[in-house]
Amino acid sequence: MGTSLTGTTRMDDMKLIPGLDLPPSCRTTWVSEEARKVWAPVLPKVSAMVSELEVLSVAKGHRPCAWQTIAEDQFPRLAAAWAEMDLVSLPILRVRSFTGFAHRHETPRAGERTNVCVIVARTLKDALRFKAANVSGDNDAQGELLGFPKCCRTFFCDTWAKGYYDPIWQAALNSTLIHIYEPTANYEARASYQLRVQGHPFANSILRYAGIRVGFHLPCAFDCRETIRVASERMDLAKVTDPALADILKGLLSMPMSWDVYHGVAVVRTPIFYLIVPSVPAEERHVVEVVSAPEFMPKESARGTGFPFITERQSDA
Ligand SMILES: [Zn+2]
Repeated sequence: MGTSLTGTTRMDDMKLIPGLDLPPSCRTTWVSEEARKVWAPVLPKVSAMVSELEVLSVAKGHRPCAWQTIAEDQFPRLAAAWAEMDLVSLPILRVRSFTGFAHRHETPRAGERTNVCVIVARTLKDALRFKAANVSGDNDAQGELLGFPKCCRTFFCDTWAKGYYDPIWQAALNSTLIHIYEPTANYEARASYQLRVQGHPFANSILRYAGIRVGFHLPCAFDCRETIRVASERMDLAKVTDPALADILKGLLSMPMSWDVYHGVAVVRTPIFYLIVPSVPAEERHVVEVVSAPEFMPKESARGTGFPFITERQSDA
């Protein structure tokens, strides 16, 4: 059962270092050559399927609009493909092109390659409603048109206003807690703050930096029911698109994993790979451990002494 966080208010107040903002990137490091050989070709395929689902979910009427960030020179080709699906596309913003993972878009500089943000919708009316909400800065209305649950929209608006643009720690605080580690100032040895939460693979956004996700928004909790409901519709589509890849997607999101942030860099640890990405500039180290039931442990998983690796006890079993 979940443990209560009552009396640990310091956990709610993640202090940020002002002005520290790292450029977009996402680096993947494999735990072994064996893991890399098996899984490195799979991750881009899963990520490509998820991108397809973004638009397909609009065509199927699951949500009014999808947001697509694409290279500007790809627009004519993609606009034609979307038109074939009876969808309208409305470019709303030119942004700086980037590689890796970016938390927000930047204005392009003269002479740079640019991306364009396009709203793909079933009706022009919905596309124009989105544009109006974007121009007026109405995040809640934009989220609603993208099919994001109300609880997660409210969570996004609250956490974004506090500067938590990668609110994994804040989502963990809202989740079913399995363990709260004793807070410590000894960040060399351990995190200042560390939680273990029960997650659902459909509401886990930790692997989104590598494009591995089912939902398209930041869930308010690792077990947000509304997110699981919306994501289940998407998984049904995935099962039709590519049943084998859909199983792999669910499996990857069911691995035990941790998110470890300190001074603007987050390290995600899974049993088969690490991701190193820019994140919130937390003054103190915060770690979230996520477990799912049933969990998925690929046979290429690393052996180690602790979470999220296969421990000796597990491998003896
Ligand atoms: Zn939610």
